[in-house]
Order: sequence, then C-alpha cells, then structure tokens
Amino acid sequence: MLERLLDDTLDRLEAAIGRVSPALELQEVGTVVEVGGGIARLEGLPGVTAEELVAFDGGGLGIVFNLAPDAIEVMLLDDRPELSAGSRARATGREVDTPVGEALLGRVLDATGRVLDGGDPLGTLERWPVERPAPAILDRAPVTVPLETGIKAIDALIPIGRGQRELIIGDRQTGKTSVAIDAILNQRDKGVICLYCAVGQRGTAVSRVVDTLRDQQALPNTIVLVASDADAPGLRFITPYAAMTMAEYFMARGRDVLVVLDDLTRHARAYRELSLLARRPPGREAFPGDIFYIHSRLLERSTQLVERLGGGSLTALPIIETQGQDMSAYIPTNLISITDGQVYLSPSLFHKGFLPAIEVGRSVSRVGGKTQYPAFRQVAGDLRLAYAQFEELETFSRFATRLDAATRQAIEHGRRVREVLKQPEHRPFSAGEQLVVLKAVNEGLLDGLPLEQIAAAETRLTRGAQQRLPALCAQLDSGEPLEEAQWQQLLEAARAVLGEAAGAAKGGPDGIAGETAGTARDAG
Ligand code: ATP
Ligand code: MG
Repeated sequence: MLERLLDDTLDRLEAAIGRVSPALELQEVGTVVEVGGGIARLEGLPGVTAEELVAFDGGGLGIVFNLAPDAIEVMLLDDRPELSAGSRARATGREVDTPVGEALLGRVLDATGRVLDGGDPLGTLERWPVERPAPAILDRAPVTVPLETGIKAIDALIPIGRGQRELIIGDRQTGKTSVAIDAILNQRDKGVICLYCAVGQRGTAVSRVVDTLRDQQALPNTIVLVASDADAPGLRFITPYAAMTMAEYFMARGRDVLVVLDDLTRHARAYRELSLLARRPPGREAFPGDIFYIHSRLLERSTQLVERLGGGSLTALPIIETQGQDMSAYIPTNLISITDGQVYLSPSLFHKGFLPAIEVGRSVSRVGGKTQYPAFRQVAGDLRLAYAQFEELETFSRFATRLDAATRQAIEHGRRVREVLKQPEHRPFSAGEQLVVLKAVNEGLLDGLPLEQIAAAETRLTRGAQQRLPALCAQLDSGEPLEEAQWQQLLEAARAVLGEAAGAAKGGPDGIAGETAGTARDAG
C-alpha cells in the first residue's frame, strides 16, 4: 500500500520535473573595488552601458557615470554602509526611472519612489525614465496664459506665463523659497498641479515647507520631491530630472504644472562633487565642462505644448543662490542665459523690511508681458514707468540736498507704490484685489497717506471694492479689461472708502493730508 503510494508520488514528481524547462539567463556580475564619497569603482560588467542602472547585493542602486577601460565608476543613489570592496553588482539593463501618476499628489517622496511622509507605500505605479528628451520645436506653442503667483510685484511688473522658465535668484536668506511657495499656494483654486523639488537642503528646511503647504491646504495638488543634504550626491543629482518627469506625466494629459527647483546651486555642487571624485577635468570654479548642459537639458523640458498634444504646460521656477550678490558667477550666469527671465531678491531690500525683497530694476520677464491679462496691461504700464523713475530718483536724491517740488512728489509717490508692493508671506492676492490697489496707487489716491497707513488703506480698498462692486471685482479676477467708465466707477468707490476712513480718523497729520487731497484731485 505504502509502496504504491510512494511510486505514485515519484511518478508524479518525475512528470512535473519533466514539464519544467529552465530558461537560460545570462547575468553579468561585477565586483566593487573601491567605494567612497558616493562613487563606487567596479570591475567586471563588460556589457554595461553608460547611464545604466546597476544593482548591488543588499539592494543598493547606482548609475553608470564613467566607463573607463580599466574600471567602471558608478554614482550611488543611496548610502549603504554594507557596500564595500568585494560587494557584488549586476547590470539591470534598465535606465533610471521614477514613479509617475495621480497617486503622487499630496505625497512627500524621493526620486526612487521611497515615501518620506510616514504614510503608506506608493503601491505599483507606472515608471518613466528620469531623463527624457525635451519637446521638439513643432510641439511647442507660444506662452500666452499667465501663471498667477498672487504676488503683486511679480504679477504686475515681472509677469510669468505658463510654460515659461523664470529664475528666482538672490543671496541666502532673502526670501527665495518664500516667493516660490507663495506661487504654489496661489494655485490652490487654479487647477495647476505643483511640484516642489528640494535638492541638498537641510531636512528641517524641507519639513517647514511641507508644514506650510499642509497648513495652507496646498498639499493635495502638490508633490514634494526631496533629496536632502544627507542623501547621496547621485540622488541629489537625478532628483530635478525626476521632478520634470513627474510633471511631464501631467503635462502629457493636458494639465498645467508648476515645478519649483530649490535650488540648482546645490544641484550643481552635487554634480561637481561627483565629477571631481570621478576625476573628470575641472573647469571654471572647479565645475566640470558639461555643467551648462546638465542645466539646459533640464530646463528645456519646460514648455507650453500645442493643442494637438493636449495643450498642457510645464512652468519651471528654478532657484539659484548667489554669494555677495554676484550675479556674474559661473552658475548664475549660466542659469540667467538658460531661463526666460529672473526675479532678483535683494538682501538690502530684505533688511529694510521691503518684503518680498524683489528688486524690480534687476528683474525681468522675457515673455511674460505678452501673457498678462488685459486688465493688468491697462494698469501695469504706468506702474512700471513710475516705479522705474522712482528707483532712479531715490538713488539720485541721496546726493542732492534740495529737490524741486515735482521730484519730491515723484519720490513720495514711488515710496507709496513700493509700500503697496509689500506683501506678507502666504497671503496671495487675487487678480481683482491686486488691480484695485494698483489702480488706486497709480492714480495717486494714496499719495496723501503716511507710509505706515498704506497697509491698512490697502485692506480697506480691497474689502470696500468687493462690497460695493462685486460684479466688477469678479470681472477683474477673470482678467477681462474694463471700460474707462468702469475704471472711474472703481476709483469713485476707492475714494469713498478712503474718505470714510479719513473722516473716522480725523486729526491726522494735517500738512500731508492737505497736500495729498490736492494730488488726488489732480490725478483724478
Ligand atoms: P535660504 O537661502 O536659507 O534658502 P531663502 O532665500 O529661501 O533662504 P526664505 O527661507 O524664503 O529665504 O526666507 C527667509 C526668511 O524670511 C524666512 O524666515 C521667511 O519667513 C522670511 N520671509 C520671506 N518672505 C517674507 C515676507 N514676504 N514677509 C515676511 N517674512 C518673509
Ligand atoms: Mg530657501
């Protein structure tokens, strides 16, 4: 009985084994010779190609960086202490890729798809290569739609369009990240998907940004991609490319995407570190010769696609940190020439409390003016002119002891414009709010007020306009131009609101008030 059972089982086993035909798989295995500073030198792997992904025993990953006759240099994507000389490595035949999809929205992750927000893992997602070709010329449409940042100084004077690349540049601690985050916050109800990519920053700085996005309800339409200063230089290097890939997924589906790259100075340093370790010849400031190319091929991927391809767009706001306000250093000049303009943040304005510290004279948007809403164009032309004159006059007036009345008035007017352009963090202004206050200051309605009362007057103006002329404000929010009669209606309401406030606070500095009333009447 038992024997029969045994025979039966053996027969079945033999049959099962006969059915199995093991496929032959050839796998090259290399050996690590040396590891250090985020680079590993390997021997073996004769068939490996440039930029191929290499997997190490224990799960670490690296990218082939240098192919020399005697050894292969691999940049590591993670810092694995167990990786040492003698570890084995195998070529994967794949290039580096990153997860893409709707599931990434609201998440904090790194370029390999590891989640960093303590939430559930991502699950199975489509993966796209991090390096993808930039759209061809024929696939690109002109930039025509504004990307509203909600920051008055930018939307009115340095407007940015969807699909544009605008650099945010300034010394350390001048509010660069704040400007970019405020631009992200303003997209909450605009249907623009945002991606904040932090490269080489301290973990605390990144978590502060994540907290802000969460507190301000901007996280659900934002992806936060992080390679901190503690991560391997290889990961810091590929992260901005991965950010572009994640954004391209949405752009390919006809969506508008805003990508903030914070910051490319640290990205360039990660690449310099890798290049020096791989003994590539150093050039200016010890950066390797292809440093221009690594940034240009990254930012070329930002565009407005033609209707035929869905009409999506990818706007890039790369950030660059300067040292001692030196815009002519190597990396800043590269980036200035790659991008379509820059927002310059000045440390001296920052220290004087003119926040955001945007210096209009050194900032430019090379495509933005064409994208501005018609209503903005009706107002901003005058404003830019007045402001430019003011900046010049203010510098000049430091040397002059006595000024004529017209000059003094232009300076006083300019100071009020500058006061109006001040804006606290996390308080984006809608197009309508911006236009109401900008129109009022343009027409000289605020010229009579002492500087410290401008902020209060501004609040009163936006609230008053909304209460008295809601339809007009809605029209301004949509960016449609107003008829002259409508502008007059708006100004009348503004005068009434300011008049009420002045009436309520009788007994202010008389001299200034008298002078102001005069200018306001002249302007009107
Ligand atoms: P880093 O060089 O360290 O990256 P940064 O240039 O990105 O700095 P931020 O971190 O954005 O600068 O801002 C520096 C400080 O200035 C922060 O404490 C921020 O809260 C403050 N700040 C920035 N903009 C404003 C503003 N408009 N109003 C008030 N405070 C601001
Ligand atoms: Mg910053």
